Amino acid sequence: MSYNFKKVEKKWQDKWYKEGTFYAKQDFKNPKKWYGLVEFPYPSGQGLHVGHPRSYTALDIIARKKRLEGYNVLYPIGFDAFGLPAENYAIKNHIHPKITTEKNINHFREQLQALGFSFDWSREVNTTDPNYYKWTQWIFIQLYKKGLAYKTTMPINFCTGCKVGLANEEVVNGVCERCGSTVVQKEKSQWMLKITQYAQRLIDDLDDVNFLDKIKAQQKNWIGRSEGAEVNFKIDGTDENLVIYTTRPDTIFGSTYMVVAPEHKLIEKYADKIENLDEIKAYQKKAALKSDFERSELNKEKTGVEIKGLQAINPLNHEKMPIWVSDYVLITYGTGAIMAVPAHDDRDFEFAQKFGLPIKQVIKPKDDSVEVDLQNRAFTDVEEGIAINSRID
Ligand SMILES: [Zn+2]
Repeated sequence: MSYNFKKVEKKWQDKWYKEGTFYAKQDFKNPKKWYGLVEFPYPSGQGLHVGHPRSYTALDIIARKKRLEGYNVLYPIGFDAFGLPAENYAIKNHIHPKITTEKNINHFREQLQALGFSFDWSREVNTTDPNYYKWTQWIFIQLYKKGLAYKTTMPINFCTGCKVGLANEEVVNGVCERCGSTVVQKEKSQWMLKITQYAQRLIDDLDDVNFLDKIKAQQKNWIGRSEGAEVNFKIDGTDENLVIYTTRPDTIFGSTYMVVAPEHKLIEKYADKIENLDEIKAYQKKAALKSDFERSELNKEKTGVEIKGLQAINPLNHEKMPIWVSDYVLITYGTGAIMAVPAHDDRDFEFAQKFGLPIKQVIKPKDDSVEVDLQNRAFTDVEEGIAINSRID
């Protein structure tokens, strides 16, 4: 006799569902509590993909083990159900997204239940349910009241096909991951949340969660907190200051040129002073087709154009230096402008080598036996170094 899994599994799944076998209990006396959270799926029209059961199964095993050990387990599930695909589908097929979303959720729920996951279905969350999103709206209002939500104009990745902004991860080789249309950088007025205000807190609290070390490291990189200073470089012949952000203000003497992002306001403001405006404009156009990720990749061939007619003045030694525009500087990071210190920064070094710009060492290793080879690479181990060539005579 063969094992009739369809019949057997259905029998038990129905029983679990009916009796709420896996529901968390409102039992505050049991000190053994365990909360397992998976990333809620987006209910697409295609149903579950293999990546869903892959991660849900791992945590399901732990949840079941914990229940057997006497823990009051909360293993919830829900649907992260607002999504652009539903909107695009609605536009194309003239079906209200509410209808397709509901249909997709039902399909997903059936599949998840057929897999026999031990989720607490009594607490199912659906982000398109007004009873749910009234709270996200409430949270937004609290952020707004505290000045943590604000509006600003920022360039975003904009899909020319879907007509929406995309996350960096959704741009693959300059085109929209979803529809393959060209992605451009477009200035848009948009709401921002000041998550940077919480950068330190987010880093500190990683100590309290049970994550693998490599995941914690990823989180820290993503938070990307850095400490630095803003420095004003006067633009020769104007009252304008080019404000740059640097994590190493002590290397100012080693800066030999400046770089602004292609979207920097300086270009438009001083357009009449710029001698090679056409060349700059053409460069801006090309840069707009690249994503932030592509632009900041380390091993990528550096490109750029010198802004002829504008020069910056080093605030310490008063030397004049050229200003370049290059897409390796992002408008969304810092002030969208940098002082380039090619002797001590890999990307500045690559750029300087390619365009024949001066490379000036201002830090030497503490240990004299450490070799510095500025013909071939930057000396970046500056944390422990000693400042040199940094005196005003
Ligand atoms: Zn698209």
